[in-house]
Amino acid sequence: MAELKRLSESRDLTRIERIGAHSHIRGLGLDSSLEARDASEGMVGQLPARRAAGLILQLIRQGKIAGRAVLLAGQPGTGKTALAMGIAKSLGAETPFASVAASELFSLDLSKTEALTQAFRRAIGVRIKEEAEIIEGEVIEISIDRPVSAGGSGASSGAAAAGKTGRLTLKTTDMETVYELGGKMIEALGKEKVQSGDVIALDKASGKVTKLGRSIGRSRDYDAVGAHTKFVKCPEGELQKRKEVVHCVTLHEIDVINSRTQGFLALFTGDTGEIRAEVREQIDTKVAEWREEGKAEIVPGVLFIDEVHMLDIECFSFLNRALENDMAPILVIATNRGITTICGTNYRSPHGIPSDFLDRLLIITTQPYTEDDIRKILDIRCEEEDVEMSVDAKVLLTKIGTETSLRYAIHLITSAALACQKRKGKVVEMEDISRVYQLFLDVKRSTQYLMEYQSQYMFSEIPGEDDGED
Ligand code: ATP
Repeated sequence: MAELKRLSESRDLTRIERIGAHSHIRGLGLDSSLEARDASEGMVGQLPARRAAGLILQLIRQGKIAGRAVLLAGQPGTGKTALAMGIAKSLGAETPFASVAASELFSLDLSKTEALTQAFRRAIGVRIKEEAEIIEGEVIEISIDRPVSAGGSGASSGAAAAGKTGRLTLKTTDMETVYELGGKMIEALGKEKVQSGDVIALDKASGKVTKLGRSIGRSRDYDAVGAHTKFVKCPEGELQKRKEVVHCVTLHEIDVINSRTQGFLALFTGDTGEIRAEVREQIDTKVAEWREEGKAEIVPGVLFIDEVHMLDIECFSFLNRALENDMAPILVIATNRGITTICGTNYRSPHGIPSDFLDRLLIITTQPYTEDDIRKILDIRCEEEDVEMSVDAKVLLTKIGTETSLRYAIHLITSAALACQKRKGKVVEMEDISRVYQLFLDVKRSTQYLMEYQSQYMFSEIPGEDDGED
C-alpha cells in the first residue's frame, strides 16, 4: 500500500505541467441562480453570453435540447472557445464533449461526412449497466427481502402496515458463505424475530446464525464491512450472485472496437479509417435493444465545431439531417466571420452559414472586452503561467491588450518572463514587456510593415475585392 502511494506521489511530481490557451477556464463562473459572477472559475466579464451559456448548460443537463444547435458568434479573441470550454468543464466527466475545428474534417483519409459522423458519435455517450460476478474475498452486504405480514415476525411496523417486504442484512466476504448463509438465514427467519434492517452473521465453526443487531445507517458498526460495501437485493430465500457495474462509453468507441478492420488500438492512435455503415447500423440496433431492456441509456453530449464558416454546403446539409436523429448530441458551433461566402457556393450569408441551418440555431454573441476585463484576464493568465509581474508592467500590458488584441497580450506574458529571467530578474517589469513588444509584432504593426515593404516581397499583388476579409 505504502509503495503504491509513493509510486503515485512520484508520478505526480514528474508529470509535466502543460499550460494551454484555455487551461485557466474551470467552468462558466455562474452562481446558483445562473447569474454570471464578474470573475469566477477563470472566466471574466462577457456576462450576457455566459448567462446564456449557463441556460444551455441547464437544458443539456435536463436532456431537453437534443438535436438543437447553438452558435457562438463574435469578433476574434472574444472568448467563444473559452465559453465552449466553460460548458465542457461544467458538464462533468460522464457527459461526452467532442471538439473539432471545421478544417480538421477535410482530410485525404476520410470523407467529410465520415469525419462528421465520427465527431457526432464521439459526442454520444452510452451508459451500459452490466451484471458482474461478485469477486471472492470482496466484502459484500446482502439484503434479503421477504414478505411481512402485519404483526407476524415483528417486522418493522411501517413495512408491516404497508404489507410490504422486510429486509434482512448480512455481510460476508465469500460466495460460499453467501449461499450457506442463505439457507441458514431462511431457517433463522422462522425461529428468530427479525426486523427489516437486522444484521445477522454466521459462525463458521458452529454453523450457527446469530442476530448481530440493527443496521443503523451504514453497517460501520460491524467491523468486517468495508467502505465499498455493495448491496445485493434478493427475492425471498434466493441469494443471487449479482451486482451492477456501470460503464460509460461513446458510440464512436463502440464503433471502433467492433469494426473488423480497426482494432481497439485505433482509439489511441486516432487512426480509425472509415467505419462501414453496416457496423454502425448493427451497433445502433443493439444499443436500441439494450435501451428497451433497460440495460443502457443514451447520454447526449456536446459536439463543438470551431471555425464553422469553413464547412461547405454539403456539410451543412449533413448537419441539418444529423440533428434530427433522436440520439443527436447538442451542437455548439463558433465563428468569427461576418457576412461571407458559404463554402462551395457563390452565395453570401451571415457567418457563411446557409439560412435554413441558421434558422435552427440559438445564437449567442460575444462582445469586445473592456480594459478592466482585459486586466483581469491578464491577471489570471499570469497566475496560470506562474509569472510574477509588477503593477506597472501589468498596466502597460493591459494597454497593449486594448490597443492590439487580448491574445497578443496573453502571448507576451511568458515571453516577457523569459526576458526577465535572462536579465536575472525575479519580477517582470515594464522593460521586459517593452523588450518583447519590440521583438514580436502584433497584427497591426506587421500589416503596416508589409504595406511599406510589399513591393520587395515575392508575388505581391494589389489586394482584390475578397481579400482582407476577417
Ligand atoms: P477566435 O474567433 O479567434 O477563435 P475566440 O473568440 O474563440 O477567438 P478565445 O480563444 O476563446 O477567443 O480567447 C482568446 C484567449 O482569451 C484564450 O486564451 C481564452 O482562454 C482567453 N479568454 C477569452 N475570453 C475570456 C474570458 N471571458 N475569461 C477568461 N479568459 C478568456
